[in-house]
Amino acid sequence: MDRALDKDRLVLVTGGGGFIGGHLVADLLAKGHSRVRAVDIKPYDEWYQVHPAADNRILDLRELAACEESAEDAARIYNLAADMGGMGFIENNKALCMISVLINTHMLMAAKAAGTERFFYASSACVYAADKQTDAHVTALKEEDAYPAMPEDGYGWEKLFSERMCRHFREDFGLTTRVARFHNVYGPHGTWDGGREKAPAAICRKIIQAKLSGRHEIEIWGDGEQSRSFMYIDDCLYGVERIMASEIEEPINLGSDQLVTINELVDIVEGIAGISLKRNYKLDAPQGVRGRNSDNTMIQTRLGWAPGITLEEGLAKTYAWIYDEMTAGGARSAAG
Ligand code: NAD
Repeated sequence: MDRALDKDRLVLVTGGGGFIGGHLVADLLAKGHSRVRAVDIKPYDEWYQVHPAADNRILDLRELAACEESAEDAARIYNLAADMGGMGFIENNKALCMISVLINTHMLMAAKAAGTERFFYASSACVYAADKQTDAHVTALKEEDAYPAMPEDGYGWEKLFSERMCRHFREDFGLTTRVARFHNVYGPHGTWDGGREKAPAAICRKIIQAKLSGRHEIEIWGDGEQSRSFMYIDDCLYGVERIMASEIEEPINLGSDQLVTINELVDIVEGIAGISLKRNYKLDAPQGVRGRNSDNTMIQTRLGWAPGITLEEGLAKTYAWIYDEMTAGGARSAAG
């Protein structure tokens, strides 16, 4: 049975200045939660969303004391803080990704000490064994495919280790932990520039740049035939809430199963932009695994639901937001 939470109990969102965290804080406030704390390491002007109704704090959650301060009085914790980015970031910053192990470990210790009732950990599809992802025509990944373990170097190992920390805190200390393996989340109010952006936002940006500049070309990482699925942020938020409130103790996939190649993703965004571009393939760029999709049997069985917002619908909203940022943002910086 799903567990609801009194709306006046404190909820902590770590990584609250990040993409998913910013949306989650907004969602919790919109649902009537009166005490939401958002914590992030970044200065406020770098948060994607700052919600004045939340208790916003800037802290480095690699430190135990910062985790203890954050967790104080928190009935629920959503641990989303991590040093991460798209393929270009995680393939070149493995040590930084691994250091996020301090965040989850210290957050779990702080949650236990604070008597927190439920703890959510944002894991990733990068925990899955690389040898199960060598073909673009993939067999979708089931939860048990994470073992025998051979995850994405750096980032994926950290996520897998942290999943296990959650399990042992639950088994040994009675802390209720819930773990979702996110598969590529996208939407407005996320990174679209600067090196940490992921494929949907990067492709929207490149197509908008081509449209605005009149240079009708696009650079695509790899041969464009690598495949993925992408989940729109609204599905992610709904899934997080359902999983957090559920009795599902083991890590569970939270992702779309609409598989596309990167070339097909470009087709969709070109359609939204009403433009067709010459494609230049950068074969030595970071690409990650060849193919990856989410098997949603478990989430369908356990929750009677799975992410269903189509790429066409989600990308239209994302494209519109990035377009606005690029054009209004340019005007803003020119003015300021
Ligand atoms: P994000 O980078 O936008 O948000 C993460 C936030 O954590 C950032 O704002 C960052 O400043 C903060 N952070 C990093 N180190 C910190 C520290 N030491 N102390 C406090 N805050 C710190 O990423 P996101 O897309 O919102 O992802 C949220 C979570 O979901 C992450 O754990 C990520 O690994 C996981 N995830 C995301 C995706 C995706 O496609 N977006 C996929 C799989 C898993």
